[in-house]
Amino acid sequence: MKTGKLFVFSAPSGSGKTTIVRNVLKENPDFVFSISATTRKCRKMETHRKDYFFITEEEFKRNIAENKFVEWEQFYGYYYGTLKSFIDSNIHEGRSVVFEVDVKGAIQIKNHYPEAVLIFVKPPSLEILKQRLIERKTECEEDLKKRFERMEMELSYESHFDHVVINESLQNAIEEVKKIIELNKMGEEK
Ligand code: 5GP
Repeated sequence: MKTGKLFVFSAPSGSGKTTIVRNVLKENPDFVFSISATTRKCRKMETHRKDYFFITEEEFKRNIAENKFVEWEQFYGYYYGTLKSFIDSNIHEGRSVVFEVDVKGAIQIKNHYPEAVLIFVKPPSLEILKQRLIERKTECEEDLKKRFERMEMELSYESHFDHVVINESLQNAIEEVKKIIELNKMGEEK
């Protein structure tokens, strides 16, 4: 029987991870994006049930109690979690699942699904990443400090990943990811 594969992407914000993930989904129309649940507010460009399941904190905590998450984390006061049922129903129907989660979430997914392929998207340098965030001017001084600390923490998890892709040129990074996917798509038959 054909079972789906799991491809998990993590990166500090600003590394170009979202663009790379979108490209993977475009190139592989039979893949699905793992829609996480979150308690943060829906942003302008986002859609409920497409980008995230936007739920209340009460509902999120109920899902934790009912053991519905493979993993969950809290960032900047909001909860984010990966739903077990979403993964299992897709892989059993032969669809590969693509995740975009933080580094700790990726490691937890690998603990539950050892066959998952973890891909770390790395910025060419931490300084460039910090500069981009400063130029974006969306964060106050204190939040910037928190985000910088988080970036450094995330970069220290690189060695837990199966593949590290440096996003110096987006096109090269996309090509590299394409090769990783092709290699791991093989042997989909079980
Ligand atoms: P954002 O609020 O910008 O969409 O996401 C914030 C962070 O949460 C990003 O690093 C994103 O990859 C991560 N994230 C999104 N969904 C999940 C999830 O289900 N689990 C974990 N651990 N992290 C997630």
